[in-house]
Amino acid sequence: MTGAEPCGECGARGCAGLFHGLLALDHSRAQPWGPLHGVSVSCFLLQHPGRLPGDGGAGARGLLRAYLDGGLPAVERLVGRTRRANSHRVPGRPPTGAAVRPGGEAPRGGFAVTIEEVAVDGTFPADGFPERVRAWAAATLAAWGDDGA
Ligand SMILES: [Zn+2]
Repeated sequence: MTGAEPCGECGARGCAGLFHGLLALDHSRAQPWGPLHGVSVSCFLLQHPGRLPGDGGAGARGLLRAYLDGGLPAVERLVGRTRRANSHRVPGRPPTGAAVRPGGEAPRGGFAVTIEEVAVDGTFPADGFPERVRAWAAATLAAWGDDGA
């Protein structure tokens, strides 16, 4: 990671390469990474507002909130609900009332925890990974102004 420029969005060095490595671990479906895939991706997207889907991050924030409040069971309930809701939506049309506001409320940098901390030495060690992801989620929501109030 040395020598890489800090990311203009999350502030970490080499974040794109780290995210690629994390996705490979997620997709192996191995513990502890696989079950936390949705949480990891939500953190990364919310720290890179330019990559957010059309809901402006509302869905990802909801997922992180659920994870911090109720752990993975809460995330699984939420994901199940979203899948059912999506099946009733007109394909190709974004949900109304959740337009992206570019450069509006999305934070730029200033995250207490980024993927760099979660990766530790770049390999995302299993030991303590869930705790680091939880800290990543909390720091991400805090920067978005959602500290659980
Ligand atoms: Zn970044």
